[in-house]
Amino acid sequence: MEISQIISAKARRIKLVLMDADGVLTEGKVTYGDGNMELKSFDVKDGAGIELARMAGIKTGIISGRQSGALQRRAKELKIEEVHQRVINKVEIYKEILGRCSLRDEEVAYIGDDILDLPILLRVGLSAAVADAHPEVKKRVDLVTTSTGGRGAVRELIELILQAQGRWDTMLEEFLS
Ligand SMILES: [Mg+2]
Repeated sequence: MEISQIISAKARRIKLVLMDADGVLTEGKVTYGDGNMELKSFDVKDGAGIELARMAGIKTGIISGRQSGALQRRAKELKIEEVHQRVINKVEIYKEILGRCSLRDEEVAYIGDDILDLPILLRVGLSAAVADAHPEVKKRVDLVTTSTGGRGAVRELIELILQAQGRWDTMLEEFLS
């Protein structure tokens, strides 16, 4: 992805990456099994991206409207710091996180896929939408990833931030040596 100077400047300030879950960390499908069993699929490259962010000292978080045990498990596995599920008012939680972590809007990136994400997307320093996000969302964000939800969109955003912050090349070198 071509990074403009404006996007790069915005990405340089990011200390926290917040994500919507359904349609962003997943393809947006919820598979029902017997009883209460619910299955979700996650992208391993997104997971690795979240780990790279943590290695670079960038916090990560999830704000989801639904409640899912599978998501809880994935978030724990990836040591995601802020996990908020069954959230009705996403902006309320967003403001609470910022207050508690002493962060400013400019220091937060958010990636979403639907109009419920707009209130946060319009506030954050770096707003992103997945390739298959709702058109009303895509036209109001700083960047649209080339990957669709659940297929590497989060990884793309994190890599872009790490590149802008000059961390990507050094991290890559560490893996190469
Ligand atoms: Mg969503």
